[in-house]
Amino acid sequence: MRGWNWHQPPLEPIYDVRLPLYQVAGKYCRSGRDIYLNQVEKKKGKPNVAMQTGLFFHEMIVKILVQTKKLIYQLGINIEAILSELSSLMSSFSEQLNDLSVQVPNIRDQAQQIFNYNYSYIACRFREVLSRQPYIGEDSLAVQVVPFVLEQKLDGTFLGLSPNLSSDAFVFSEPMIMDLKFGPREPFHRLTTTGYALVMEAIFEYPINIGCIVYGLFRNNRLYIEKDFHIINDELRQWFIEERDEKMRMVYDEIDPGKADNCMETCPYYEYCL
Ligand code: SF4
Repeated sequence: MRGWNWHQPPLEPIYDVRLPLYQVAGKYCRSGRDIYLNQVEKKKGKPNVAMQTGLFFHEMIVKILVQTKKLIYQLGINIEAILSELSSLMSSFSEQLNDLSVQVPNIRDQAQQIFNYNYSYIACRFREVLSRQPYIGEDSLAVQVVPFVLEQKLDGTFLGLSPNLSSDAFVFSEPMIMDLKFGPREPFHRLTTTGYALVMEAIFEYPINIGCIVYGLFRNNRLYIEKDFHIINDELRQWFIEERDEKMRMVYDEIDPGKADNCMETCPYYEYCL
């Protein structure tokens, strides 16, 4: 069940269909009609408020971490200058915050908490690394302060997935796929890390055994972080391949699976299923 076995069953794709990984791994619609509507009837879903907010937080975190790396290469190990530049980054999100605050009144406070958390994390990492390595150079410092590849682009076609996948973060020290979510935990979330592990194994031919889903939640108006570390075992791999095959068949044979039993008005495809 390793990705490098993509050319033989059960990993070999049976149908000539390419699905985005989030559609294979997503089970918010229990019947899978969202995928039928999107892939067969070519309907576009309307992102709900939770999706828009999650996407914004996601983009914000990526920007903070990538900007940190950029500043290290530009300013060297001048930690005070880097942190000062970084602290002014929050203002660059004001336009998006203005738009979102119409629907989510406390979005500014939540965004500020996420920004502060990341800023403190980066400041701590800087001080920790510099206190241990007096002769460190920019490249090594960048890798140690932000030890991830963010939004790594991957070609999933070996496994019947889209050619333009993007994993949230990949840690090289112990090969680990990370995924960031803002919302309640679901068992199927592990399918996302599993799918990326299979794709990376197919491309790079080395094993990826660990996944981690980071949940950003707000409780009592405070940011609360939960981490779900898990082994990407055969059971998860099997589940991912079964989901892929079932959804590919539905798209290839143009089978409408009918309405789910858990439809909510917030579903991006709700208007098509009324
Ligand atoms: S409205 Fe219901 S059936 Fe339609 S896509 Fe959403 S969850 Fe699925």
